[in-house]
Amino acid sequence: MNRQKIESKREREKKTVVMMIRLYCRKKHGSKELCPECEALVRYAMVRSDKCPFMETKTFCSNCRVHCYTPEMREKIRAVMRFSGPRMIFSHPVMAVRHVMESRLERNRTSPKEKKRLEKEDNEN
Ligand SMILES: [Zn+2]
Repeated sequence: MNRQKIESKREREKKTVVMMIRLYCRKKHGSKELCPECEALVRYAMVRSDKCPFMETKTFCSNCRVHCYTPEMREKIRAVMRFSGPRMIFSHPVMAVRHVMESRLERNRTSPKEKKRLEKEDNEN
């Protein structure tokens, strides 16, 4: 993947995250603009995205195998994803579908090892 592609992927990830946090804040915190807490989460997520060394191979931050978020921020972003993920299907279908597909890809990529582990367990029994 060339640099330009990596950067556009990074931008796409950022846009998705901001959109999800906005939606979450509007519905959960009743803010028209971002509340200070969500504002801080956006800023944090942007920095993480900027610094992510796995942009080329990973799919989406929430699925990233190297969990670069602090436990506190990870909890916050997970709550946002859980809430906004399914709702994005209606407001931003293309982005939401892409997100679901990328999450699925990520899962598939980790499954062969998991499969081997299960086979091994079967043989031991
Ligand atoms: Zn908020």
